Amino acid sequence: MSRKGLVTRSTGSWYDVRDADNGHIWQCRLKGKFKTMGLKVTNPIAVGDFVGYEIEDSGENFGIIDTIFPRNNYVIRSSVHKTGHGHLIAANVDQAILIATLVFPRTSLGFIDRFLVAIESFRIPGVLVFNKQDLIHEEMKAFQDELIGLYESLGYTCLTTTAVTGAGLQEFHDLMKGKTSLLSGHSGVGKSTLVNAIAPGLELKTQEVSTFANKGVHTTTFAEMFELGEGTFIIDSPGIKELGLADMKPDEISHYFPEMRALLNQCRFNNCQHINEPGCSVKEAVAEGAIAFSRYESYLSMVGGGDNRK
Ligand code: GDP
Ligand code: ZN
Repeated sequence: MSRKGLVTRSTGSWYDVRDADNGHIWQCRLKGKFKTMGLKVTNPIAVGDFVGYEIEDSGENFGIIDTIFPRNNYVIRSSVHKTGHGHLIAANVDQAILIATLVFPRTSLGFIDRFLVAIESFRIPGVLVFNKQDLIHEEMKAFQDELIGLYESLGYTCLTTTAVTGAGLQEFHDLMKGKTSLLSGHSGVGKSTLVNAIAPGLELKTQEVSTFANKGVHTTTFAEMFELGEGTFIIDSPGIKELGLADMKPDEISHYFPEMRALLNQCRFNNCQHINEPGCSVKEAVAEGAIAFSRYESYLSMVGGGDNRK
């Protein structure tokens, strides 16, 4: 009989599978060719997948995956090679957390909004953590408060932290308890420092892993899952900047802006792309301040500002 386990690491050809009953880690391969279950991705299994597997009869630590259980959700990174196929990063994620910093380095609002649009498209709740509070001076603080007000009003949980004084770390830890969280953020924002402060000794990997089959041709980053405590997991996705926005059409993108969603059928034209059409309810809301200008700017940059409209 097949056992059940959780995929905690993947190299593209080997998978670490954590047994659901005893937590033992087995090194598994796939049994034959797996279908990608309707997704346009190059890899059929990701970290966070629950799988059925058999132990190989070799006396070693090896197993063979024969089943993938249905997913609650998944996260795909856009194709970087224009093949139209993305990369499955993670499955069964409870929340996606973006670690951001307004200084050293500055996370752009465009980047934050692209992250939020991507996770909206995957129907995963989003959290924004603003780190390096010790470096935020008065003026920047006012701007940050405004941003936090904006994102909270859109339904995203926001948190401020600093690894220097430790302020906010307990809240950060509490936020993750009992959940599986995907952690993202530009390098340098303090992701590893924060995680290390919560779970000392847990070293996040920052290097890329090359796929076995394409060694030396190109490198692909794979996510890895870590257990922080009973039932608390984080998925680290090193080097992953852009999630799945590649194939989104403008009318799809607007649906992933919560503040636009309700207005979409109020535009004069039902194929309105909210760029320069007359009678556009979205542009009216921007003019009235009901939609933040920075959010609208992000929307325009995502739909190509009118140049790449399809
Ligand atoms: P990662 O690339 O996101 O994993 O970033 P690191 O954890 O490696 O941190 C990048 C740099 O920022 C390191 O020099 C850290 O010591 C520093 N750093 C991390 N958190 C904070 C913080 O809250 N305040 C300040 N001032 N520096 C921080
Ligand atoms: Zn419109």
